[in-house]
Amino acid sequence: MRRIAEIASYHAHIYFDRPEQRAIAMDLRQRIAERFTVALGRVHDRLVGPHVRPMYQVSFDVAAFATLVPWLMLNRQGLAVLVHPNTGRELSDHVAQGLWLGEILPLANLDMLREETAAEEVLAPNTVPSIAP
Ligand code: ZN
Repeated sequence: MRRIAEIASYHAHIYFDRPEQRAIAMDLRQRIAERFTVALGRVHDRLVGPHVRPMYQVSFDVAAFATLVPWLMLNRQGLAVLVHPNTGRELSDHVAQGLWLGEILPLANLDMLREETAAEEVLAPNTVPSIAP
């Protein structure tokens, strides 16, 4: 059995495709920033890494999971979200250990993902929340 202490941090990847979904995703991004101490990644309108739809990444620490993930359940407004742990096994973290909210999307370019890297600690937060989630 693996131990949950292997989880150094989490990512939520928030996907969008059509223009109206992009607008929803950008609004959601703002609302996340207002409510959670997280590291918001760049908005990728072009496909990057294993992702087959435009998206942005939210990096957050283990303690934030219990509030951010339920909040996303209630507020994702139809967007597909992949939440995955960072344990240092990039490939299985994305492909096998993640959970999806809404639509389950395929992942591509899996040869880019490595196993046995250093587990990614949460990135330095770049949000200053002012609203209780
Ligand atoms: Zn990720």
